[in-house]
Amino acid sequence: MAVILDGKELARKIRQNLREEVDALKRRGILPKLAVILVGDDNASKIYVKNKSKACEEIGIDFEEYVLKEDIQMDELKNLINSLNEKKDIQGILLQCPLPPHLDVNEALKTIDPKKDVDGFNPLNVGKLSLGQDTFVSCTPYGIVKILEEYNIPIQGKHVVILGRSNIVGKPLIQCMLQKNATVTVCHSKTENIKEFTRQADILIVAIGKAKFVTMDMVKQGATVIDVGINRSEDGKLCGDVDFENVQKTASYITPVPGGVGPMTIAMLMSNIVKAAKN
Ligand code: NAP
Repeated sequence: MAVILDGKELARKIRQNLREEVDALKRRGILPKLAVILVGDDNASKIYVKNKSKACEEIGIDFEEYVLKEDIQMDELKNLINSLNEKKDIQGILLQCPLPPHLDVNEALKTIDPKKDVDGFNPLNVGKLSLGQDTFVSCTPYGIVKILEEYNIPIQGKHVVILGRSNIVGKPLIQCMLQKNATVTVCHSKTENIKEFTRQADILIVAIGKAKFVTMDMVKQGATVIDVGINRSEDGKLCGDVDFENVQKTASYITPVPGGVGPMTIAMLMSNIVKAAKN
């Protein structure tokens, strides 16, 4: 049976360390503050924002929420971002995605000051990551690296297979894994014979948003399996992109859903805010 990679516990430890760092910053007169912009009324987005606000509160980071109407125009959104860029007391800016379809998400992310871009989505920071320069690494890939490090799972020289090529998970993960000297394969919805690739993986990272897509026969004996997916199964329960019950019999290490990658994503956001405040 696989060892369960406990992202919840690791995230708790990281938040505890960050709280001490925030206390130290406060003693120097620096009060870290995050501004979150939420456009519209999407329920899932509201829950994500609430979880981020709770984590900020726990660590001692100030939190300001800007809720904009669904039909806001692009120039109004950019004006708000620009005004937050100017504010000296705000070190981190986060634009909760997805945005309503009439808004240009790339244009909006480009407007965020790269020094306050704690999600790591500004194209400048994306470019820096691919050049191996110091930057804000987007939170989910960053959290995955931390989990692998915590459990001393070797990455160098290993074959990492990533399912999914989204801008927020799959693509930045490629860079993170290359920097750790892995050999990286990326699969997506047009990949043929996907099982041929997944079965080669020493580390299989799955971020596609398809409940229990990865089955036991797709995983090499002894592999490490990282499940990023958040889905509802037919019985309404939260589940990942991996058939956890069966794959844990084949894998050496596996992340659960919930309690794996999810809590780490928020912990690494907090870490990026503290980094921004230190800068
Ligand atoms: P996304 O933007 O929808 O991208 C999905 C990716 O999966 C795309 O690259 C797509 O390929 C690929 N894909 C879809 N079906 C596939 C299939 N049958 N075989 C192979 N590849 C397939 O998703 P995302 O934002 O990266 O999120 C992925 C999942 O992770 C979702 O469940 C999301 O809720 C979850 N998530 C969790 C966290 C966390 O903190 N735990 C953070 C972010 C996301 P194409 O490019 O060809 O379309």
